[in-house]
Amino acid sequence: MAMAKQQHHVVAVPVPAQGHLNPLMRFCKLLAKQQPGIIVTFVDLDFAADAADAPPLAQEHHNPCPAAAAPHSLVRRVRLPSRGVDLSNGFSLSFLEVFHAFLSIAPDLEQLILSLSRHGPPVTCLLSDFNITLPTQDVADKLGIPRIVLYPCCASRLLLTHYLTQGELVSLEEVKEASTATGIEMRKVFCKLAGLPTLRNEDIPHFKHVTDETVSLWINSTKSWQVCATRAHAVVVNSFEDLEASTFATLSKCCNVPIYDVGIWVESLNEESATSLWEEDKGCLAWLDQQPTSSVLYISFGSITILSKTQYEEFLNGLLASKQRFLWVFRAGLVDDIDYSSSVAQIVSESDGKGLVINWAPQQQVLAHPSVGGFFTHCGWNSTSESIANGVPMLCWPYFADQPLNARFIVDEWKVGLRVKCSKENTGLIEKGDIDKVIRALMEGPEGKLVRENATKLKERCGQCSLENGSSYRKLKALMKSLE
Ligand code: UDP
Repeated sequence: MAMAKQQHHVVAVPVPAQGHLNPLMRFCKLLAKQQPGIIVTFVDLDFAADAADAPPLAQEHHNPCPAAAAPHSLVRRVRLPSRGVDLSNGFSLSFLEVFHAFLSIAPDLEQLILSLSRHGPPVTCLLSDFNITLPTQDVADKLGIPRIVLYPCCASRLLLTHYLTQGELVSLEEVKEASTATGIEMRKVFCKLAGLPTLRNEDIPHFKHVTDETVSLWINSTKSWQVCATRAHAVVVNSFEDLEASTFATLSKCCNVPIYDVGIWVESLNEESATSLWEEDKGCLAWLDQQPTSSVLYISFGSITILSKTQYEEFLNGLLASKQRFLWVFRAGLVDDIDYSSSVAQIVSESDGKGLVINWAPQQQVLAHPSVGGFFTHCGWNSTSESIANGVPMLCWPYFADQPLNARFIVDEWKVGLRVKCSKENTGLIEKGDIDKVIRALMEGPEGKLVRENATKLKERCGQCSLENGSSYRKLKALMKSLE
């Protein structure tokens, strides 16, 4: 008698930050759509929960918990309250503290999975973000289930992490200085590494935000990579083959675990967002409907970038001087030390009716809108990939982490964007004139025309990958087969 096929039940664990929640949820929806019969349970880590209110998992209170307002029908959601760590201040904590908080979820996650398995189809696979590797791989190994890693950034960054792990990469002086203390040996300063274009120091990821944690971040990444490359079932990268072909080829040779480049499916981007941490202002779509084709510059610096007041003023004056139409995501907290409401009112009144300012956008829908002709971006990987998928050329103003690396690829490799340049390097300030110039170049100049044409072509290549028998489609099928 033929054995009945086991029903898959995947439990997905995100890093609770906007740029990590979105790609993991999109991948979950993709799995649920492409693999009929699969059950996908998305775990909302609730680090803001008061531990005293946390439902004790021993009482099997895992289910059902409508954690978010709009759960996707194909993806079930459960809430996992934290025990004694409060991440509600998010990135004002040091990265090291955040990683320590992650480590503490292991016992509760284990109980949750056991509990889910007792009350429904047994959990057959753990899917979790690369940056939460250390606790989740341990849980998967202990329970004897395979773990799939979602790498939410581009493959090139992962390959850089690999080289760092191998002692092949030396980059920023500050990392180098710290290397003696951390035991990571860095031998070469700035070099040509297989699978990557020649990188300059400024292209290498750094992490200067509220705290300067470059070293601890790299250490966490290298530890995570060592674990993933030896113990995970597979690594899924949020990119597609055609975009980083030689990187993927090199990366696949570097580790025993299969790498699946199955990201950036236009179809999954178009799904209603179920993981937005802020309310999306959909009214901006009606405003976009009123604007001429390709005339609007969309401006967003993602969820964690912070501008100094001086930099903000230069940016605003440059933007106004460019006389372009714009839609600006100006979230509270974007600029240090200003009065939010009066600043928004000032921008709108000085824009001569050409600008709209909102707190948070339905970004995918905005980028897909025909009135949008450019994206002024901090080059977060999600923003980058969404722009590519929609064929929108970019103005690159990287802030930290992998954003300088992404900008390098956008401008020099894929040629779908222009770089914001600082005319007075010694000040570090991008002045009004720099902003005005680069905006006009993108929206009106011949350089802009060229990158717009390239962006349209790249969008087509991106779309091909997720069609039946496209590379992403085939890789996804292969991944699911590997679990049988
Ligand atoms: N996003 C959004 N509305 C906004 C700004 C951003 O929905 O107004 C989404 C965007 O589509 C992307 C994510 O937030 O999926 C930001 O991720 P990214 O990697 O670009 O930047 P991060 O916020 O991690 O710096």
